[in-house]
Amino acid sequence: MGKSNTMTTLLVKDCILVNIIDLSDLYLEAKKIHKTNEYSSIALGQTIVCGALLSSDIKNENEKITVKVNGTNQIKNIVSIVDSNKNIKADISDPDSVTISKFSVKETVGKGSIHITRDIGTKRPYTGKVLMTFGDIDLDINHYLEVSNQQISFIKTYIGICDKKDSAYGIYVRLLPDYSEEEHIKFDFVKKLLSDYDRIKTITDEVGGPLDKKSEYDFVRKVFQLPFKILKKDIFKYKCDCSDERMKSILKLLSYDELKEVSIKNNIEIKCNYCKKKYKYNINEFNK
Ligand SMILES: [Zn+2]
Repeated sequence: MGKSNTMTTLLVKDCILVNIIDLSDLYLEAKKIHKTNEYSSIALGQTIVCGALLSSDIKNENEKITVKVNGTNQIKNIVSIVDSNKNIKADISDPDSVTISKFSVKETVGKGSIHITRDIGTKRPYTGKVLMTFGDIDLDINHYLEVSNQQISFIKTYIGICDKKDSAYGIYVRLLPDYSEEEHIKFDFVKKLLSDYDRIKTITDEVGGPLDKKSEYDFVRKVFQLPFKILKKDIFKYKCDCSDERMKSILKLLSYDELKEVSIKNNIEIKCNYCKKKYKYNINEFNK
């Protein structure tokens, strides 16, 4: 692929919309912030890449997409939030304590639920939910897209942890209205082709490494075998929007006695879940 943390939007023929993303650097940054181990990294990577791909639907400023995974096994909670400026922040519970026998989201996350929230800046964000019947973030988000969207679409992510370099790629394919029979057949063919990880590895190897440098167009050419044009490129950043003011407003929800309980020698320390930045206050800054 081209530059890391970039999503390329392409139109294949007339009605197949493709988003292809390389979030490898951002994934590495998130892994460092949250100190995920090799087992919890895959689930975090999948959630971040899916959120970024779904953010291609964002149309307005102030709009946000949140993907929240509620797990039932060792990982209880993963959340990734993307805003209209392509800033991503993410959080994962107990990232370093996950110990399982194999690399599988089914093992780490289990069969909980996935919640996708579209916040368009009004007071009532819309949340859709799907039960994790497959126990896999990709497959379950595809199930969500199937039941909730009018559009025919699918998502596929590729999170590498065993390779020399950490990698996080993804693809989101949608059929736009007025698609032709040929485009529908091609969509079904590509969906089937990409549903198998080993198969994609083989394809990407043929076109010069697993979606690495300068192969994103070769990849689309190879997989779709139809003419396409590039519509746009978006660059993502891991950026948290926490602030002194926001942290203080969270603490203000507690009573003075509760604040007293969490304070040490009248000092209160609070850490942002998304970026781990620490904020320090004196209890006298709050009303009795
Ligand atoms: Zn923060």
